[in-house]
Amino acid sequence: MGKTSKDKRDIYYRQAKEEGWRARSAFKLLHVDEAYGILKGVQRAVDLCAAPGSWSQVLSRKLYDPCQTDDEKAAVKIIAVDLQAMAPIRGIIQLQGDITKQSTAEAIIGHFGGDEKAQLVVCDGAPDVTGVHEMDEYMQHQLLVAALSIATCVLETGGTFVAKIFKGNATWLLSSQMQIFFKKFDIYKPPSSRPSSIEAFVVCSDFCLPVGYIPQVINPARDDIRLLAEKTGSDVNRRLVPFIACGDLGGLSDPDEVKSTSSEEPNSDVQYVYDAVMNDASYPLEFKEILKEVYDEQLQIS
Ligand code: SAM
Repeated sequence: MGKTSKDKRDIYYRQAKEEGWRARSAFKLLHVDEAYGILKGVQRAVDLCAAPGSWSQVLSRKLYDPCQTDDEKAAVKIIAVDLQAMAPIRGIIQLQGDITKQSTAEAIIGHFGGDEKAQLVVCDGAPDVTGVHEMDEYMQHQLLVAALSIATCVLETGGTFVAKIFKGNATWLLSSQMQIFFKKFDIYKPPSSRPSSIEAFVVCSDFCLPVGYIPQVINPARDDIRLLAEKTGSDVNRRLVPFIACGDLGGLSDPDEVKSTSSEEPNSDVQYVYDAVMNDASYPLEFKEILKEVYDEQLQIS
């Protein structure tokens, strides 16, 4: 699809052209780095949902290009994954695949193991937008949960996870999930992200697996966590709530009905998940405390 004159007037669009970035999205990652210093000292990274590759270009230019010697270059490992193929980028290993599929996740994990875990996982995942708000949000959140589950498998302790999030009714629930694994958590809207867009970025740092948690690839559309908990007899893995973003798709509203999409008003599905977890004695108390904190904070219930 051709670019509109509105795109061409956009400062970041023009700057991306001038500086040779494949997409204006490059500035979103650059702005996250300016605000949080996420690239400092990083040699091993994973770029999920990477095509056409502007975030991978940022990683290549910031982490690979400054290397002076072959040994320094060999120490840099950056894996980029997308459904679509993309033109090669210096210092980037490409994998083509669906990040919600076990086989793709395992291929990524295969590149990192033992002492060689990743220090940074980034994900700019977005589905093909349908215009049906609940559906787009649901699909985007599936990508985010898939990315989080891959991050729990490949990140070293202390590592960082940055991912796009479509803000909406389930933001508080997803936020609580991330705070299980990361000591520091923030949601950031870079100046290069269009104000009209519902996207923002979660910036999670200081990764730390809960004691007893078994890192695993989960299919966010299935109830794998509950199954694993039953299989292992361990409650620890139940800190990730079975994935429900905006209820099932059968519950989509009448498109003519004007519905609030404000993140300050939980829909009944969100309330349902919250109540179900809080009333379920098998969820760890520590998890319930975090969930309540995030729920109260984001919905400003005193
Ligand atoms: N960060 C990229 C850049 O800077 O060039 C832009 C990413 S673009 C906004 C979103 C990407 O998500 C698309 O390339 C799309 O193919 C990818 N994507 C969507 N669903 C995916 C999935 N299930 N697995 C892998 N990639 C996916």
